[in-house]
Amino acid sequence: MKYVLVTGGVVSGLGKGVTASSIGVVLKACGLRVTSIKIDPYLNTDAGTMSPFEHGEVFVLDDGGEVDLDLGNYERFLDFRLTRDNNITTGKIYQSVLEKERRGDYLGKTVQVVPHITDAIKNWIETVSVIPVDGKEGPADVCVIELGGTVGDIESMPFIEALRQLFFSVGQNNFCLIHVSLIPVLGVVGEQKTKPTQHSVRELRALGLTPHFLACRSAQPLLEGTRQKLSQFCHVPVVNILNIHDVPNIWHIPLLLKNQNAHDAVLRHLDLLSVAKPPNLQ
Ligand code: ADP
Repeated sequence: MKYVLVTGGVVSGLGKGVTASSIGVVLKACGLRVTSIKIDPYLNTDAGTMSPFEHGEVFVLDDGGEVDLDLGNYERFLDFRLTRDNNITTGKIYQSVLEKERRGDYLGKTVQVVPHITDAIKNWIETVSVIPVDGKEGPADVCVIELGGTVGDIESMPFIEALRQLFFSVGQNNFCLIHVSLIPVLGVVGEQKTKPTQHSVRELRALGLTPHFLACRSAQPLLEGTRQKLSQFCHVPVVNILNIHDVPNIWHIPLLLKNQNAHDAVLRHLDLLSVAKPPNLQ
């Protein structure tokens, strides 16, 4: 299994969900089978009891799972049917670990965030990523994982640590990290600012994860100078700096990625170029 992890930095609501779905669409257009997992670091077991005024639409899956609206995006973009287990929350992970603890499964050991919660997260990801969601037999080629929230949040720390361990165990060619970040323009200076992204990449690296790609959200397309600066200071090759500027319709984003040859760079990173076709996307 190959994993594409999408994280977010600087502020929430940047478009991680849309970026993750669009990457999935581009990979699917190259003939690969894709599945996805959304991680929500909140303590609610699922989104069913959360106010739509605060949280947005609660998306109901075919199996009755009440989940985050991003899973609705995935189903609409990628035309597959997810299960409730494709949405991991802190609540679900703790519930499963506490049930095991009450059953005595830990044989008297002290149950801790590391390794018990992190192991539960890794096992959950490895188990769910091989469940077919597109009606075909056998596991998908690529699992796109979106980590909700912003890097550095206390809530997401066990997930970051579990994903770091997963990256270490599956290796560089099976794991691709795309960090979605904001490139603001300050009104008076009128310059695209890279510092917030530099800080969020530094934060990610301090936690043991290095981004292979940057997906930069900006109002206008990225300038060449901004791209060069990001590459130099964030240690990401220029071809791996993707730009997702504001568009009038989010259905344009897969094309925006394809036009930047994102599929090529991601497939090259995941060593999938030999099995993929040219993208069939207009
Ligand atoms: P996150 O997962 O980071 O919270 P979402 O993917 O849910 O963010 O996106 C937040 C909002 O921003 C959504 O309403 C989405 O439609 C919008 N959005 C995302 N990317 C773009 C873009 N490139 N241009 C315009 N709107 C966007």
